[in-house]
Amino acid sequence: MSDKNKPTEHETVPCEVCLKEIPRSEAKNVEADDYMLHFCGMDCYDKWCKEKDSH
Ligand SMILES: [Zn+2]
Repeated sequence: MSDKNKPTEHETVPCEVCLKEIPRSEAKNVEADDYMLHFCGMDCYDKWCKEKDSH
């Protein structure tokens, strides 16, 4: 229980679309409702937008 102070900058998050692990600091973060979505780049963000719109 002693690894509480890990540096969060090197934490990785999965891209919402392709699920690639990306450093949190490099991810494109988009706030959706009450949570954050992470994208590895504009390509995946665009894809997500289109899918969202087609609902
Ligand atoms: Zn991606």
